[in-house]
Amino acid sequence: MNRSTVWHPFTQHGLEPPMKRIVSAEGAYLIDEDGNRLLDAISSWWVITHGHRHPAIMAAIRAATEAYDQVIFAEFSHEPAERLAGGLIEVAPAGLKHVFYSDSGSTSVEVALKMALGYFHNIGRPRDRIVVMEQSYHGDTIGTMSIGERCVFNAAYEPLLFGVDRLAFPQTGHEQQSLDMFESFCRSGRVAALVIEPLVLGAGGMKIYDAGVLAGLKEIAERHGCLLIADEVMTGWGRTATMFASEQAGITPDILCTSKGLTGGALPLAATLCTSDIFDAHLSTDRRKTFFHSSSYTANPIACAAAVANLNIWRHEPVVERIENLEALHRQKLRRFEGDTRFSNIRQAGTIAALDLVAPASGYLAEAGPRMRRLFRERGLLIRPLGNVIYLMPPYCVTADELGRAYDAIDDVASIVLGSVG
Ligand code: PMP
Repeated sequence: MNRSTVWHPFTQHGLEPPMKRIVSAEGAYLIDEDGNRLLDAISSWWVITHGHRHPAIMAAIRAATEAYDQVIFAEFSHEPAERLAGGLIEVAPAGLKHVFYSDSGSTSVEVALKMALGYFHNIGRPRDRIVVMEQSYHGDTIGTMSIGERCVFNAAYEPLLFGVDRLAFPQTGHEQQSLDMFESFCRSGRVAALVIEPLVLGAGGMKIYDAGVLAGLKEIAERHGCLLIADEVMTGWGRTATMFASEQAGITPDILCTSKGLTGGALPLAATLCTSDIFDAHLSTDRRKTFFHSSSYTANPIACAAAVANLNIWRHEPVVERIENLEALHRQKLRRFEGDTRFSNIRQAGTIAALDLVAPASGYLAEAGPRMRRLFRERGLLIRPLGNVIYLMPPYCVTADELGRAYDAIDDVASIVLGSVG
């Protein structure tokens, strides 16, 4: 057993060999201490959008360090945070007007929950229920675990988790059922917000649903005066082909959470955007109506400068074309698995492609998961299946050849794991 001093995330040290060190990263690759180049086909947990160490982002970080380290963000402001907020409002769905900074996806969702409850509290009509979708994942804090799927990830912490109302996942053909469930929850008049991953449930297994459902949910929320919180932590920054997935439903959420690709993946930063109604409910001469949330590293100026550089990349480089190319490549390469009985649920949302290995067991603990992960590593690829769900979410700089290697490896590894080789 490896009694590692460094305790790694989502890692059973009793089963894993000592970790290889990564010594550098560039473009679509991680380079380990033995000089192996690993194709980062999952964008280092979905954060890297353009590629590792994009020169403009690295330069912006270096420049920012000439002026800043962390500076307190209460009582003072700074240019990187202000420029970033302006830029975010430009690219976000119209109607989001205020930006609150934090430092991870989980905290951006915690902030959103507090904004929603704070809104109803401050307008004198308190509401106390949150609605979520089955199979969702929103982070690993107590609050975000509470609103996420109850599963092996959080079974031990169950006594501390609060109750929420859960919508059935909108299976194709059964969308109305989820909409009806939402409407019935809303009728209680107690629902403060629906928290939802727009279009794709990421850690829940890359489950994709129709944009029309999201539009329908927003319509119901509006009718019942309930807020819609879009957790775009994974889906933001082009992953589903549009800048934010909410755009595809033609909606503006009341609150939008973003992190991961916000800095192009270079530094930790998160933002929770909200409408004027929510901000104004906290705007008062009464100090009790303050939005009481802070974290030491909120709006870190170096991270904000990295995010401003990321916005400039979106403005000045052909990012949209790269995304369209990647989308087309996935579509073309996924075709080889059509009708292949080793796989089911072959699916794609923009730059995300996923398919389920028809393995004896499914779910996160399915043995096929770690086995496939090791086999991918041996083939020079970083791919971490979610149980029997294999997915690719590469940075946008990936080439057709590199993606081809990933698909070849999926073909090969699936055969080995299913024992249909040799
Ligand atoms: N929301 C979603 C949709 C996510 O995919 C994640 C992370 N995978 C989070 C929230 C939590 O983000 P973080 O790990 O940065 O706290």
